[in-house]
Amino acid sequence: MNQEDCIFCKIIKGEIPSTTIYEDEDFKVILDRFPAAPGHVLILPKTHVENIYALDDEIGAKLFPLAKKIANHLQGTLDLDGLNILQNNGETAGQTVFHLHVHLIPRKKGDTVNVKWKALHPSDEEMEAMRAKLSL
Ligand code: 5GP
Ligand code: ZN
Repeated sequence: MNQEDCIFCKIIKGEIPSTTIYEDEDFKVILDRFPAAPGHVLILPKTHVENIYALDDEIGAKLFPLAKKIANHLQGTLDLDGLNILQNNGETAGQTVFHLHVHLIPRKKGDTVNVKWKALHPSDEEMEAMRAKLSL
């Protein structure tokens, strides 16, 4: 997607409204307009990058400390039972807005959020083949 057409760039520039809970020189943290749960927030880097593959290391290094700060804030204010942190890359992975963002999804016992998957059961040989393929 072209940067000029990017909805999150427009939010960052204030061209379309958002509900902002935190902002600094590198990031804006907004309420998700269609939340999975109350208090679902999105961390948006202010510089447009589509996904994690394109993420600048300096911004990336600031991202998890900010996620931790927001996580603690959500935990402290909403009295959560849990919290999911999610970051989708690519349509197949569920990405719908192609400006990198991190979801923080507050969890309460018995809520309607579902982030479960069906576990595979690879053999030891398959585990070893994958280790050999992926070793860095
Ligand atoms: P993705 O599926 O790309 O990981 O997540 C995109 C998220 O952006 C979704 O959870 C969706 O609800 C949220 N979203 C889409 N459009 C808007 C918008 O205009 N404003 C806000 N605050 N969130 C949006
Ligand atoms: Zn953008």
